[in-house]
Amino acid sequence: MRIQGNVALVTGGGSGLGEATARHLAGLGGKVAILDFDIERAKAVADDIGGIAVQADVSDESAVCAAFDQTVAQLGAAPRSVVNCAGIGTAARIVGRDGKLSIDLFERTVRVNLFGTYNVMSHGARRMAELEPLEDGERGVIVNTSSVAYQDGQLGQSAYAASKGAIAAMCLPAAREFAKLGIRVMSIAPGLFQTPMMEGLPDEVAAGIVANIPFPARLGEPREYALLAEQIISNPFLNGTTIRLDGATRLPPR
Ligand code: NAP
Repeated sequence: MRIQGNVALVTGGGSGLGEATARHLAGLGGKVAILDFDIERAKAVADDIGGIAVQADVSDESAVCAAFDQTVAQLGAAPRSVVNCAGIGTAARIVGRDGKLSIDLFERTVRVNLFGTYNVMSHGARRMAELEPLEDGERGVIVNTSSVAYQDGQLGQSAYAASKGAIAAMCLPAAREFAKLGIRVMSIAPGLFQTPMMEGLPDEVAAGIVANIPFPARLGEPREYALLAEQIISNPFLNGTTIRLDGATRLPPR
C-alpha cells in the first residue's frame, strides 16, 4: 500500500509510538488523522505535521464511528491504513496482598486495549471496504499494537497480557475475514520503548529492564516502531501475523 497521498489514521497519535508513527507517515506524504483521548496533544502533533486531530475514547464505539466520519469529512477519503496505538499500561496482582481483587482494573484494561482496538479495526475495515481497490486488489491495512507481554507477561501483568494476547490472537482470523475485501491485518508486539508510558518508571526499574535487552542494550526508540509500521503498510505480503520488535528481549517473571 502506497503511503503517499493516502489517508492514514493513527490512534494514540498524540503521544509515544502513535505520535512517532503519525509523524513518520506524514513525512512520507500520507494525509494523517490523529485520534486521541487528549485532543490538545493530538492537535499539537497534527498542527506540526499538517494533519488533523480527532477526539475519541477508543473504548466508546459511537465515538470511534464519529471519528471516522470526521476523518472522511476533513481529509476527503476514508483511511487506507489504520495504526492502533491507543492503549493503557496497567499492573496489579490478581489477588493483592491484602486479599483485594483487581477485577475493576482487569475490566478497564480489556475495555481500552482490546475493545478499543476491536472498535477501531471494525470501523476502519468497514470504511476501507467501500474504497476502490488499488494494485493487487488491496484496499487497506490495519496495524494493531500488542506487546511482548502477550507471550512473556510478568507478575502483575495478567490484565495487560490478556488484553494484548487477544490482540495477537484475533490478527489471523481478522486477516482471513477481510481477505476477500483486500484488507490486511497485522500486529506489532513491542518490547520496551522510550515513551511517556515508560517514563513514569523509577530509574532502577528502567535499568533492570534494559539489563534484559540483549542488543541493542537500550529501550526501543519510537521511530523504530514507526519504521516497522511503514514496512507493514508498504509490504503487501505481510498479513495475519504478529511481529515482535524487541531487541531479543524475553521478559523475566518479575
Ligand atoms: P503513550 O505514550 O501513553 O501513548 C498512548 C496514547 O493513547 C496516549 O496519547 C493516550 O492518551 C492514548 N489513549 C489512552 N487511552 C485511550 C483511549 N481510551 N482512547 C483514545 N486514546 C487513548 O503509550 P505508548 O508507549 O506510545 O504505547 C502505545 C501502545 O503501545 C499501547 O497500546 C501500549 O500498550 C503499547 N506498548 C507500549 C510499550 C512501551 O514500552 N512503550 C511496549 C509494548 C506495548 P492519554 O495520555 O490521555 O491517556
